[in-house]
Amino acid sequence: QDNNFQAIIAHAKEYGFVFPSSEIYDGLSAVYDYGPYGSELKKNIKDYWWKSMTQLHENIVGIDAAIFMHPTTWKASGHVDNFNDPMIDNKDSKKRYRVDHLIEAHAAILEDQGKQQEADALLQEMDALLAKDDFAGLKKLIEDHKIVCTISGTCNWTDIRQFNLMFETQLGSVTDEASTIYLRPETAQGIFVNFLNVQKTARMKVPFGIAQIGKAFRNEIVARQFIFRMREFEQMEMQFFVRPGTEGEWYKYWKQVRLQWHLSLGLPAEKYRYHDHSKLAHYAKEACDIEFEFPFGFKEVEGIHSRSDFDLSQHQTYSKKKMQYFDADIDPATNKPYGNYVPYVIETSIGLDRMVLLILSHAYEEETIQKEDGTTDSRVVMHIPEKIAPIKLAVLPLTKKDGLPEIARDLMDECKNYFRCFYEEKDAIGKRYRRQDAIGTPFCVTIDHQTKEDNTVTIRYRDSMKQERILMSQVKDVVMNAIA
Ligand code: ATP
Repeated sequence: QDNNFQAIIAHAKEYGFVFPSSEIYDGLSAVYDYGPYGSELKKNIKDYWWKSMTQLHENIVGIDAAIFMHPTTWKASGHVDNFNDPMIDNKDSKKRYRVDHLIEAHAAILEDQGKQQEADALLQEMDALLAKDDFAGLKKLIEDHKIVCTISGTCNWTDIRQFNLMFETQLGSVTDEASTIYLRPETAQGIFVNFLNVQKTARMKVPFGIAQIGKAFRNEIVARQFIFRMREFEQMEMQFFVRPGTEGEWYKYWKQVRLQWHLSLGLPAEKYRYHDHSKLAHYAKEACDIEFEFPFGFKEVEGIHSRSDFDLSQHQTYSKKKMQYFDADIDPATNKPYGNYVPYVIETSIGLDRMVLLILSHAYEEETIQKEDGTTDSRVVMHIPEKIAPIKLAVLPLTKKDGLPEIARDLMDECKNYFRCFYEEKDAIGKRYRRQDAIGTPFCVTIDHQTKEDNTVTIRYRDSMKQERILMSQVKDVVMNAIA
């Protein structure tokens, strides 16, 4: 499993998906850059999410709020006081761990050893202690299970302390406390503070939603997890505002709709599961994660949270501005309008980078191919869903002469108006196919001498490697149908 994950990371770098940030200076921990194919993939996922959430839901509109926000925002949201993770340091290696990560990693080792019950009991006990902020109990749990630091190999731990995950910086040139601002740790608050601006200007009626895609920053204490847990990452969030009392049904609705979104990309249902939270934030009514089976096990990719009126009420208190909505619909119980209330909120929140990792993990295959002459060959192929593949079509003239490049260029010029294409005339055709397999291009088209006779080309399908001849005039529609 771990080898597979390492192979995916190496592949992502070699083929221009993901690079360590500032690599020439040996990188920056838990920060990554997206290369040519990674940035296309990321953008395609973003567009797919944006379209399905806004264009296909008439009652959801988008915003693009600033990363910097008034510092009181984070007081009101609870992040200044509560956005802490309990940390523990190993006295010998001086390495710092998030307590839950340390214990989870130990549980995973127990699972690998077939001690499933022991692992489950450990995690249950951890959840109970975390819920009570019982740090002495957590430290004892770590010691009782003789959980060691991977670097020093010892169990010589400090006490557990809280560590706030927000990055601070100064606004303007004066350094006093009032000018301290934070890099937002989630995009959601930009939606909450704009609730009335959006509701009024877009003339929205409850129930309605506000969607946003943007960067968020958390000073995570990380184990090496590639783009699963980053310090700078991107979120795709949607806050859905509902009448109090209807949040239960909307929570169920979004739970189901969001899983469906993943499956609509053709991703396998058996790799997904829900994880309902038993441990809830004090304001939350219900919460669950959508988990995916990554190479390192089932992990959260998206959260669905029923957040009550907590955030809007907090902003109302701190800003002293009304965060209410007037509902003119008639309440059948009283025969009067529902009137003024602070709406309840269902949130869907997915990490864009985590979604990229999900796609890379799902797509990567080292395939052995049986050839007709009885020998075998191998290839690395990325089975990226057609809709979000970085390149949709490769246009490949068989040779560099006899007018084939000119014909290929014409096809390229037509198709590139509709979707991302790639043109290449160097190297043997088999080699060119392999390069496209490695970046996940679903269709390759080869222009050969027969094309000059009858206007047909060879189309080759990435997953099956089947080839067939079709009219050159059909190529565009074949691709368009697959990505629609
Ligand atoms: P985790 O328990 O993994 O730290 P979380 O429960 O704190 O995540 P939320 O605050 O609910 O996460 O954030 C919503 C989504 O944002 C997560 O489901 C995840 O996909 C993404 N996300 C959160 N933190 C990170 C991070 N450090 N790097 C990349 N994506 C992240």
